Order: sequence, then C-alpha cells, then structure tokens
Amino acid sequence: MAHPPAVAADVIVVGAGISGLIAARTVLAAGLTPVILEADSRVGGRILTEEAAPGLPVELGAQWIGDTHHRMFALAEELGVQTYPQFDEGETSYELAGSGVLRENEFRARFAGELGELEKVLRLLDELAAEVPPEAPWRAPRAADWDAITAGAWYDGQALSPVARTLLEICTVGILAVPTVEVSFLHLLFTIQTCGVTSELFAESEGGAQTTRFVGGTGEIPKRLAALVTDHLVLDAPVQLIEHSDDSVTVHCRGGRTARGRRVIVAISPALAGRIMYDPPLPGKRDQLTQRMPNASAMKAFFVYDEPFWRAAGLNGQLISDVGPARMSNDTCLPGDDHGVILCFLEGEQARTYGRMPTEERRAALTAELVRHYGDKAARPAAYLDGEWADRQWTRGCYNANLGPLVWTNFGDALAEPIGTIHWASTDTAVRWSAYMEGAVEAGERAAQEVIDALTG
Ligand SMILES: Cc1cc2nc3c(=O)[nH]c(=O)nc-3n(C[C@H](O)[C@H](O)[C@H](O)COP(=O)(O)OP(=O)(O)OC[C@H]3O[C@@H](n4cnc5c(N)ncnc54)[C@H](O)[C@@H]3O)c2cc1C
Repeated sequence: MAHPPAVAADVIVVGAGISGLIAARTVLAAGLTPVILEADSRVGGRILTEEAAPGLPVELGAQWIGDTHHRMFALAEELGVQTYPQFDEGETSYELAGSGVLRENEFRARFAGELGELEKVLRLLDELAAEVPPEAPWRAPRAADWDAITAGAWYDGQALSPVARTLLEICTVGILAVPTVEVSFLHLLFTIQTCGVTSELFAESEGGAQTTRFVGGTGEIPKRLAALVTDHLVLDAPVQLIEHSDDSVTVHCRGGRTARGRRVIVAISPALAGRIMYDPPLPGKRDQLTQRMPNASAMKAFFVYDEPFWRAAGLNGQLISDVGPARMSNDTCLPGDDHGVILCFLEGEQARTYGRMPTEERRAALTAELVRHYGDKAARPAAYLDGEWADRQWTRGCYNANLGPLVWTNFGDALAEPIGTIHWASTDTAVRWSAYMEGAVEAGERAAQEVIDALTG
C-alpha cells in the first residue's frame, strides 16, 4: 500500500487533546503553520462526552471547572460555550468507620472532634505547600525530606483518629486517583500548591475545582477548538518515531504517514511520550523520568433515573464512604432536563478492583451502595453508563501522572525543558492546575510560546 504523502509545516503537534489544540491554535495565530497528529479517530483525549440515554450527555472524562480556572472560563467564552453552576444544595450522605449511613448534620455532630483534627492537618498542608515553588518543586527548602517519604507515611505520622485519617485518604485519593502510599509527599504538596490551597482542591462549593459545568458537555470545548484548526488536523495518526536535528523534525506515524517541520510539540502524557521512539535517543534523565510517571486509576459511572428523587429528601447527591465501592458520588443532573443523574467515582484501588469486573457486577455493587444512601428508588435506574480509562490505548489511565518518592528531586527538571527542537505540553507539565483542563491550556500556551520565540524571535 502506498504511504500517504509527507506533510510539511512549521510546527508538528502530537496529540489533539485540549493542550495540543491550544498549542496549534496559538502557533497558527502567530503566523506559523501547525500540523496536529492525533492517534485516535476523535479529538479531546481525556475529555469525552457520551450519551447515557438519548439526548442526555454525560462526561466520561473531564466535567468541571473551578472559580480560579481563568483560562478555561476565557476559552469557553471565546468559543461560545455557556456555563452553569454545579448543583450543591442539601446534605451529603456519609458511611464511615462502621457508622452506618448518616446524613451530614448527624455525621458532623457525631464526629465534630475528628473533623476538627482533619481541618488542622489541612491547614498544615497549606502552610507546607506554600513553600513549594510549582515551577520547580525540587527547589523547595525541604524538598529532599519531603520527597523521601510518601504522602501516606506523612499522613500516618499525624496521630489522627481513624475517622480523620480515613477522610483524609478519601479526599486525597479523590484528587490523585491512587492510594497515598504511592505518591511522594513532595508531589502532594506540589499538587496542593499548583491549585492554590487544599480548600480549592477538595471543596465543591465556592472556590473549589468543581463549581461549574459546560452547557452541551465539556466535549464542546475540544470540538469547537478543533474547528478552528481543522485544516491542520490529521486523525488516526499515532506517532511512533520522532527524528530530530538542530533545525528540523520528521515525525513518523503508524501506517507510514510522515510530517516534517522545524519544531515538534509533544502534547501527550509523559508515560505515553516515553513510548515514542526518538532518534537520536533522548537524554537518559528524560527517559528515566517518563519511566516514573505512571497515569493514575479512575473511572466514572453514571446512573440515570426518571427524577432526582434524592433532592426531595434534602440530599445533594454527594456521598462519602469507606465502604464503597464508590468513595464519592455527585449529582450531575442537566439544567432543563427532568432526569436525575448520579455520578459515582471509582478511584485508586476501587477503580482497579471494580474496573476489572464485568460491567454488570460493577453496576450491581454500585447500585447496592446507592440504595443504602438514597433509598429503594436508586435500585431502578433508567440507564447506566461507565467509562474505564486504563484500557484506552491513547490514555492508559487518569486523571494524570503522579510522582512517587525521589522522582521530583532526581528527575523533575526534565519534565518541561525542551530538548533541542522538541517541546513538551500536556496538563502534566503545567505549573498551575496541573492535572486539570486549566493546566492543559497553560501548558499548550507555554509550549507554543517557546516555539514562537525560537522561530520568530
Ligand atoms: C475521568 C476523568 C475525569 C476528569 N475530570 C476533570 C474535571 O472535572 N476537570 C478538569 O479540569 N479536568 C478533569 N480531568 C482531567 C482533564 O481531562 C485533563 O487534564 C485534560 O483533558 C488533559 O488534556 P491534555 O491535552 O493534556 O491530554 P490528553 O487529553 O490526554 O490529550 C492527549 C491526546 O494525545 C493523543 N495521543 C496519545 N498518544 C499519541 C500518539 N502516540 N500519537 C498521536 N496522538 C497521541 C490522545 O489520543 C489524546 O487525544 C479528568 C480526566 C478524566 C479522564
């Protein structure tokens, strides 16, 4: 079979997630020609809107933005995507430490002391995180000590009661999507600092990372961004090899397609970037880094009901549980639609255990949990949809990459530093809201600016 003709451009972008699309759009606006090579047959990467029922879009990937996601708010406005606030009225339902199912007010009254302990630790985390420069965590004054222990070990050393320790684990795994024993304490502090403070990271209410949703689904963002660069976008083009010299790159895709340019921006997660071959090979430090940035384990499961019956009972659709299988849930109803939609999160070990089960078994286990929290009506969903990410060849886990002990201090400076004509984007390289869409936009803009400076400066 004849190979497709080689494409020529100024800048080759690998990956049409939001980071790669932003990078391509930015170089195009600067008068340079991009070509985006996307492995999948769709754009958006970790953003994926699908219908749980006819006319009912749900987010198998990214869903929310928060009040300080300024780049995303600006982008939505520019693209004409409307936003609306996340529903947050009523009590959360708890099932923790053998307490049985308790409503929030009762839980708070019974465990006031434990919640006070948790609050103190969160304030301490904020203080320590403030010492970590997000653009260079390895330069934190106590980086060596903090990178030598896991977040879990540090948590264990805080003499917390079992309830406070469990709550801390649940809210941290809700962010990192891996158990805290897998993550360096320095990485946890970096994560907090890149987002501001723990209250921004963990809270759903005002100031948190999950306050706002997009009308029509988050998928509208990459779809409309792709329309701006549609003449420069090639789908079904998995990049396998990047040949690079001082002033040019040749990028080879599976199927024989090639693209030649002056610079390349690799806008995929570090683990996947490490699977591309580079000729000449990259420095050992960069490769050792990408060997140590595993993508985490998370999946979302949506239950659609005829109505949001939990609201009438004064519940907000959120649960927090150490019984599971979901450690958390959320009310994700759509405005102007009568259906009730509950989203269950499976994160870390829950995603690994339940994600590998047949769908019907997973659904049954989750249904039983929802019945405990929201009553018998939860047993009869009109529709169910879930989405696993480790099996997806072009993602291989989510939400992002977490660094284990001694990785930031030994290899961290190779994360975003260009290597000759190769530049790095993706949310995992961002310094503000790394792991989020906000970070993906920042990283795409930063990598594009590096290229623009190099080629037009
Ligand atoms: C379940 C889930 C829930 C999330 N929830 C939120 C949320 O509520 N709010 C939030 O802000 N963020 C959330 N995120 C994170 C958010 O989705 C990501 O931060 C963001 O979308 C990352 O964008 P990216 O462009 O950096 O990477 P990606 O989206 O991973 O894009 C990379 C692209 O590169 C392509 N690719 C991979 N390998 C190759 C190759 N060899 N050749 C060519 N192309 C390749 C992929 O197909 C993909 O399209 C969530 C993610 C998931 C999965």
